[in-house]
Amino acid sequence: KTFEEIGVDQNIIKGLKLQEIEKPTKIQEEVIPEALLNEDIIGEAQTGSGKTLAYLIPIFQKIDAEKRDNQVIILAPTHELAIQVNNQIRLLVDNSDLNITSAVIIGNVNIKRQIEVLKNEKPHIIVGSAVRILELIKLKKIKPHTVKTIVIDEADKLLDKNNLNDIKAVIKTTLKDRQIMLFSATIPEKTLTVSKEIMKDFKLIKI
Ligand code: AMP
Repeated sequence: KTFEEIGVDQNIIKGLKLQEIEKPTKIQEEVIPEALLNEDIIGEAQTGSGKTLAYLIPIFQKIDAEKRDNQVIILAPTHELAIQVNNQIRLLVDNSDLNITSAVIIGNVNIKRQIEVLKNEKPHIIVGSAVRILELIKLKKIKPHTVKTIVIDEADKLLDKNNLNDIKAVIKTTLKDRQIMLFSATIPEKTLTVSKEIMKDFKLIKI
């Protein structure tokens, strides 16, 4: 299938072409149409499968760029992954005419500077660690009630790190009708059990 056939907007397709991305990968073909319908999703996909764009493209199409508020939270297990995801966001923005803003919010970085960034830039997308994001929600520097989508990326690593309570706490601060997408290289029974606790109904997508 083509990006057009799975519901991707022309301006995003144009931006992808500039990155020499011409045709959806398997996970993108499966995830993008479901994500655009606002379904909760569990995706089993390895790094390198194109999973990041599988969730970023529908997120881009759902963000209301006119509104300067926090519409998306992406939880990542490591600082490196958070930065990589943000780089893919910036590439997509730079190659299209979309005015979408993002910020990396991770621990071990001066919280005062992060508070300044949040205040000045009011990023649409926040990528980072659950602990620090939760801290900033408690300080009322991140407003969770405008969040439409939460992504839990590399969930296998996140759950291993006993981060689960923080993730659940972040989810709990958002409104019930937000969408949750969870991606993991493998989906053991434990991950499914946890997923049932945080999502009512979900599409399980394996490639
Ligand atoms: P990921 O699995 O999200 O870590 O993506 C791995 C790499 O694949 C990234 O550098 C993307 O730019 C690239 N990529 C993502 N989707 C596609 C696609 N449909 N065609 C070619 N490359 C892609």
